[in-house]
Amino acid sequence: MSDCLFCKLASGEIPSKQIYSDDEVVAFHDIHPVAPVHFLIVPKIHVDSLAHAGQEHQALLGKMLLLAPKLAAEQGLKDGFRTVINTGHGGGQTFFHLHVHVFGGNVMSPDLT
Ligand code: C5P
Repeated sequence: MSDCLFCKLASGEIPSKQIYSDDEVVAFHDIHPVAPVHFLIVPKIHVDSLAHAGQEHQALLGKMLLLAPKLAAEQGLKDGFRTVINTGHGGGQTFFHLHVHVFGGNVMSPDLT
């Protein structure tokens, strides 16, 4: 998927403020943070969205979710954080490469609207 920005961010072809990388997943600070700490956990393989994930992605999804508390703690989010996966146009997704938002650093409203 050479035209996918997130594939290029995940491969390092386009630089980002990376905080984690392994053979399957990267995490980097969001370019337009909506909280004092806001980073994205992104698979290196291209999957359009959570709605496009299949059984074969089960371990990858588990890894991405388990990275959230680990990286959140490393980023100083000792008091909690929020995870969001926007899925599809109706879900507010704007970049169609699966990613988990992790943000925190202030007390967040329970209102998700
Ligand atoms: O969930 P959604 O697709 O809307 O989120 C995409 C996110 O990717 C946005 O928060 C945007 O700021 C971020 N982004 C980024 N670096 C880019 C392009 C987008 O961190 N170069």
